[in-house]
Amino acid sequence: MGRKKEISIKLTPQRLVIMEYLEGNMNHPSAADIYNAVSKKYPTMSFATVYNTLETLWEKGRLRELTIDRGKMRFDSNTKPHHHLICVQCKNITDIHRKFALKLPEGEQYNFDIIGIHVDFYGICPKCKKEKNNNVEVKKW
Ligand SMILES: [Zn+2]
Ligand SMILES: [Zn+2]
Repeated sequence: MGRKKEISIKLTPQRLVIMEYLEGNMNHPSAADIYNAVSKKYPTMSFATVYNTLETLWEKGRLRELTIDRGKMRFDSNTKPHHHLICVQCKNITDIHRKFALKLPEGEQYNFDIIGIHVDFYGICPKCKKEKNNNVEVKKW
């Protein structure tokens, strides 16, 4: 707690509600997910407000945008470096926080000074594996 004080954006009640929803949220929700959840409690909340708030938080570096679903931006309130395990069927995202060795092969760095790494691992989550109707076509990544 106390994190909110660091954020130099105007804390309107609506923004506070959205930020509270996102704090510690591990689901990497889309704007629509956030709107659906928040508007249940606060029916006056508009989708535009949700969207604008997300944009502001993103500009301030308090959110990460994830392009995992085509045409559906997902948001990560955890801005600490971490990797993702992504289920290609249900689009669930699991955070990986443990550091592990990952290095570009010799000759593939193109004289870059590498300052960060973010890896998306794609697969089928245990829940989807269990589901018997595995006739869903799995997209190859
Ligand atoms: Zn899944
Ligand atoms: Zn994440």
